[in-house]
Amino acid sequence: MTKKQKKMLARIIIAFAALAALNFIPVTGILRLALYLAVYLLIGYDILKKAGKGILNGRVFDENFLMAIATVGAFALAIYKKSGDYNEAIAVMLFYQVGELFQSYAVGKSRKNISALMDIRPDYANIEKDGSLVKVDPDEVDVGTVIVVQPGEKVPIDGVVVEGESTLNTSALTGESLPRDAHMGDEVISGCINMTGVLKIRTTKAFGESTVSKILELVENSSSRKSRSEDFIAKFARVYTPAVCGSALALAVLPPVVRLIMGLSAEWEIWLYRALTFLVTSCPCALVVSIPLTFFAGIGGASRQGILVKGSNYLETLSRVRTVVFDKTGTLTRGVFEVSGVHHSPLENEKLIEYAALAECASSHPISRSLQKAYGKPIDRSRVTDIEEISGHGVTATVDGVTVAAGNAKLMDKLGIAYQNCHSVGTIIHMAVNGEYAGHIVISDIVKPHSKEAIDALHKAGVTKTVMLTGDAKKVAESVAAELGVDEVHAELLPGDKVNEVEKLLAAQGKGGKLAFVGDGINDAPVLSRADIGVAMGAMGSDAAIEAADVVLMDDEPINIAKAIRISRKCLRIVYQNIAFALAVKFLCLLLVALGAANMWAAIFADVGVMVLAVLNAIRALRE
Ligand code: ADP
Ligand code: MG
Repeated sequence: MTKKQKKMLARIIIAFAALAALNFIPVTGILRLALYLAVYLLIGYDILKKAGKGILNGRVFDENFLMAIATVGAFALAIYKKSGDYNEAIAVMLFYQVGELFQSYAVGKSRKNISALMDIRPDYANIEKDGSLVKVDPDEVDVGTVIVVQPGEKVPIDGVVVEGESTLNTSALTGESLPRDAHMGDEVISGCINMTGVLKIRTTKAFGESTVSKILELVENSSSRKSRSEDFIAKFARVYTPAVCGSALALAVLPPVVRLIMGLSAEWEIWLYRALTFLVTSCPCALVVSIPLTFFAGIGGASRQGILVKGSNYLETLSRVRTVVFDKTGTLTRGVFEVSGVHHSPLENEKLIEYAALAECASSHPISRSLQKAYGKPIDRSRVTDIEEISGHGVTATVDGVTVAAGNAKLMDKLGIAYQNCHSVGTIIHMAVNGEYAGHIVISDIVKPHSKEAIDALHKAGVTKTVMLTGDAKKVAESVAAELGVDEVHAELLPGDKVNEVEKLLAAQGKGGKLAFVGDGINDAPVLSRADIGVAMGAMGSDAAIEAADVVLMDDEPINIAKAIRISRKCLRIVYQNIAFALAVKFLCLLLVALGAANMWAAIFADVGVMVLAVLNAIRALRE
């Protein structure tokens, strides 16, 4: 409990005791009123103050206003009737404060639980100085510094292992419970927990650019992006509050007037009391509290599974996804190619691969990384000049003074170089050296182990269409599509063509359905932002993709999209359950009050009860 909550609890207990005591003290008249008023002010002064502020700021119809007017009204009625029974006004306020206290406690607690799950922020980095370790602020560590991570500590900054061996627990980042080994030369990302050995890591990024900072930034910003259901509250309030106030006024005035006309006694007090109760009852706290809390819990639950959703509105869109479009390389396939052959080359195989690797030295495309790996030696960048990467085609560069082109058939066409077709299934890298065709390298990629499962899971989750778009050759694309059971495939697309295809699919889908695009961001960042919802691969994906995407999958597993959709559906289901439940109980109570079948106590009791249930229901969104 916070200090503020403790203070509130004390106020509640004192007010309750004082109220009980007053009922045994036989005072009357003005002294009685003064004593009761004192207790009333003790328990309700902050509500009265907030109500006053609300009126000054032009926000008249909030819950504080409703409570203030209803309890002051109840007091006024008791004075008018000279009954001396001031219990009701105080008890209602007391009850309301108990509800508020519970609400702030429950909300605070669940927010804390959720944040604890995302507790990946490292507090320090160790640097070795004169043989001993010094703790420094990770923000102050320059790129290229060697930091030391001891067992049990979090890796504070992204980097490469330069010494030591260990296993890393990545579960806070990816939801993956299997520990990963880290050896010399391995890249490690911040936020993992070092479990066994001491690691020395040379940082490759500044703290602010490291994975951990990026993730925290995303999650922290996510709750500020509003969802349509939250707008729903605002829109709802605009209609609801005036309607309720109007009804209360009508309830206070119309029946007595009708009775007078009919020649009966007006019974002003009865109707005024009902109208005041009606106002207290109308306050929609359960909705106001539970809807944002549900979204927050949903985002927290998803991030526990390694799925970062950047805002509650994306959770809502995700729940309505009917079409999922995939990029191939790096998304459905591992993007780690092996050279499976070199054909028609006048040069030695090694020489050709060397040219290819050197020409590719600046590219971050998976093909380039694979060719550099196949070459296997350190790359001397000073041998390479005039590098140009043409997206969806390949690269051209000058290596050791000769021009080298490496890419697909489109690149050769563009350069006007005749090439040999290849009959192997695989991704073909045509090479031209000095403007002459120099054969091709056949490389092949493997499908990720869970890709097929992912497509099946999507179909099971109610996705009606899965599509694969790729810049790769038709033959490879079709064989991968058939293996995975993707419904539709389009190959040999340039980045711009991918946008066109997605636009066609967007137009083709019905109004209710939404389209998700899943990619690694290499050559597909524009599509990521064009789709209703863009999903990027977090580990492999480029920074631009993570920036452009609405959802980031931390461990690059396409199967997590199905999981994300399931989480979003559950979250939305809870939101609608709470809306329906709260409104149904509310209308029932309002009706009972108008008919005189419920008093203020019952109304408040119902309201607090609904709120408690709605909050408990909201917290379910945290679990898949
Ligand atoms: P995908 O849609 O499968 O992710 P891309 O759009 O990234 O594929 O690339 C399409 C094709 O363009 C590749 O299959 C390859 O033939 C060629 N290509 C793109 N970049 C490069 C590169 N750096 N080196 C060689 N070929 C490339
Ligand atoms: Mg790609």
